[in-house]
Amino acid sequence: MKSTTKAIHTPLQRRDAYDALQVPVYNCLAYEFDDAEYMSDVFCGKVIVPDYSRVLNPTVMHLEERVINLTNSKEVSAFTSGMAAISAMLLSTSGAGKNIISSRHLFGNTYLLLTSTLKRFGVEARLVDLCNPQEVEKALDEHTCCIFMESVTNPQTEVADTRELSRIARKFNIPLIADTTIIPFTQFDGKEIGLDFQVVSSTKYISGGATSLGGLIIDYGNFPEISTRIKKEAVFNLGGYMTPQAAYMQIIGLETLQVRYDRQADSAKEIANRLANHPKVKKVGYPGLEAHPDKNVFNSLYGDKAGAMVVFDLDSKEQCFNFINNLKLIHRATNLFDNRSLAIHPSSTIFGPLSPEERDKMDVKDTTIRLSIGLEDPDDIWNDLKQAIDNA
Ligand SMILES: *Cc1c(COP(=O)(O)O)cnc(C)c1O
Repeated sequence: MKSTTKAIHTPLQRRDAYDALQVPVYNCLAYEFDDAEYMSDVFCGKVIVPDYSRVLNPTVMHLEERVINLTNSKEVSAFTSGMAAISAMLLSTSGAGKNIISSRHLFGNTYLLLTSTLKRFGVEARLVDLCNPQEVEKALDEHTCCIFMESVTNPQTEVADTRELSRIARKFNIPLIADTTIIPFTQFDGKEIGLDFQVVSSTKYISGGATSLGGLIIDYGNFPEISTRIKKEAVFNLGGYMTPQAAYMQIIGLETLQVRYDRQADSAKEIANRLANHPKVKKVGYPGLEAHPDKNVFNSLYGDKAGAMVVFDLDSKEQCFNFINNLKLIHRATNLFDNRSLAIHPSSTIFGPLSPEERDKMDVKDTTIRLSIGLEDPDDIWNDLKQAIDNA
């Protein structure tokens, strides 16, 4: 079956008592057992059925099952947010004295997790150019525990070659972990492009219309020791397992993911092309554009649709602020892949708390605007963008 079909037709693990077609929201904490022996087996992990909803819940398990089915992965773990999934992933992989190879082009909170939070626990972040394999290999040593990357960086729209990084990771017997939030996992085969783990903020594309927070770890089973730590240590000892209400909304979101993605990516490409031809626009970052430096790498990894995030540059910060203030249809908001189109000025908001020097190192410029293209008619989106730029 193709992914659009699988997203809808993954059977429930158990038939519902009332034969409900959609998985019910199991809004319960504890589960009853018929006898002490079975109860002991479950609590000792010999039988995997829910015993307490902080660690297993039937609604959340069904979401995990659908994602396993869609990704051909070994295991999936669902968390309360993307950051909960990323921190669980890195806490399960690293430890005092270890180092993580990554990039300066990272989601703001991931950057701070690596350079500040994990640092306090003795983990070193080695931030290099992930598009330069020689530099990556030079930074590795026997204390390196993983390579961590983002599929398309935000807002730089850089695309590192996962196959190249995977070859290096294999050589050192460490996992390649990718945050693939920007391109949903239905668009590519994570195993085939060399990933050992994917982490995803399912808050974005998957939740469908910004309905709920969520995060996923998708595990291809190549590092069993780390898999055990995710399921047995991170979920149990750190907490942060997804709630059944969020899982329910994300299951519904998954069912329409492919049609939303196709439509949003097509509109985004159209908008990126029109922006590139606007005289006031200095530069457009969208990996689906012919002129994008990483276009070929992008196509070979993630296919011919390049997602709904488009960034562009105006002349000055003042012009960017005027643009943002002129918008009438497009919402001034963070978040990505809502059904609505959104715009934000990253350097003064998401990256605002960082120093200008840090923003410089991360290539976050104060002339850049980030758009998330929604499901509206592309002509309406363009008309709003055009008047806001013309009058900026
Ligand atoms: C939004 C986002 C996150 C964090 O996800 P939350 O669900 O908000 O915690 C991490 N990585 C990327 C690339 C994101 O866009």
